[in-house]
Amino acid sequence: MGHPMFNYDPVLGDAIFEYCRERLAMDPVPLDYGSLKSIPDTALDGLISLEGRDPKEILSFFTDQLAHSVVSIDSPRFLAFIPNAPTKSSLLFDMVVACSGLNGTSWLESAGVVVAENQALEFLADRIGLPKGAGGCFVSGGSIGNLSALTVGRDVGRSRRPDLAPHTLRYAISADAHSSVGSALHILGMEALLIEPDDHRLTIENVRAALAADPHPETVIGIVATCGTTNAGIVDDLEGLGTYCRENDLWFHVDGAYGGAAMFSTSETPLIRGLRHADSFIVDPHKWLYAPLDCAALIYRDPRLARAVHTQQAGYLDILHEGTDESFDWNPSDFAIHLSRRARGLPFWFSLVTEGVRNYETAVQTAIDMAHHTAQRIEDVDYLELVRPVSLSVVLFRRKGWTPEQYNEWSHQLLRDQIAFVTPTKWEGETIARFAFLHPDTTDEMVDEIFASMRD
Ligand SMILES: *Cc1c(COP(=O)(O)O)cnc(C)c1O
Repeated sequence: MGHPMFNYDPVLGDAIFEYCRERLAMDPVPLDYGSLKSIPDTALDGLISLEGRDPKEILSFFTDQLAHSVVSIDSPRFLAFIPNAPTKSSLLFDMVVACSGLNGTSWLESAGVVVAENQALEFLADRIGLPKGAGGCFVSGGSIGNLSALTVGRDVGRSRRPDLAPHTLRYAISADAHSSVGSALHILGMEALLIEPDDHRLTIENVRAALAADPHPETVIGIVATCGTTNAGIVDDLEGLGTYCRENDLWFHVDGAYGGAAMFSTSETPLIRGLRHADSFIVDPHKWLYAPLDCAALIYRDPRLARAVHTQQAGYLDILHEGTDESFDWNPSDFAIHLSRRARGLPFWFSLVTEGVRNYETAVQTAIDMAHHTAQRIEDVDYLELVRPVSLSVVLFRRKGWTPEQYNEWSHQLLRDQIAFVTPTKWEGETIARFAFLHPDTTDEMVDEIFASMRD
């Protein structure tokens, strides 16, 4: 008998596994609410105590009260922001990761995790046309992925331009880049050459014009492109921007947190061909690659550059770095801003391996087709209007005559009625409605219910 806190309680185990079984079997999952309306503010008071509480009582408190106060991101009625619809196999395998407390920090500790995660990363890298040897690690999200990658690009830029004062180095970015890119530059203490592209799509012509008009174009050490802007799904001119970077020794980072998943589509292949030029690339399996939060793939063309920047040095860590053969000394901790990490890539790996690539292709393509089909249907509704052509799986549309307050009220009511979770967005200063399709089980009938709710 050891310390009581480490005993397995089979009764509690059964109760939790039973809850998980029920949850996994729900078809469909309830949309649920994101607010705490049904729970009194004081519900959690005094729960943390010296003696501890009955776990079954607390499990019931969670299942009956807290769990319903979270919008189910895997509902086919979740069309706001960027949804996420983990496959059941990825959710199940996340339980394996959880129950094993699986560590994914270093080769020494976790080779069995690392080889599987790396297989998934290599598959993604190969799919976008990066050369053999490309690799990286899974991080918690696109934001950390962008920050980690832009740190490497910055340091490479410094070494290429030793003549320039380090703090003057900049990235060229689009005004439509994700907010996390701005945050990353803020953390890195870097400025941006901020470009407002025509129709929100960054092209090589935009970059050339901005550089020509800039007093210090030599300080731009890289370009950040987006493969699928979050708000509108727009894919920048990856081919033009990437080629320019290769020819001019600039770092080419592509943020594909959402739209990188289009690598599984058939219709978007020409649009994303330029991904093969990326020096660094991110895609979030926890968005459109059907894995649970929190999981972003961060991939470098030349991972050695990243290792040189991110490896943490400490006496107690030296043993992690004493291998000689690189392929057998792969520490995920060396490729991003993190050290300890859970084996967060494994649920994605397990799902990819077991479901098969074709299922990913059809699911991603279904979402894109749904977006185009919905846009056509919007044309037939007299009180609705398409705001711009569909890009990837995002539909921007307007309810004619509505004020921003009306959009907000409608969005809240839609959730209260458990019809859908759809949030308004801003486009060129105007508040409008937006669908981000992702779940292949979203139906025309669900969209019809949403359209009907906008009638008056
Ligand atoms: C969602 C998103 C991010 C941020 O990713 P997180 O996983 O939320 O940190 C970055 N870039 C783009 C284009 C995104 O859509």
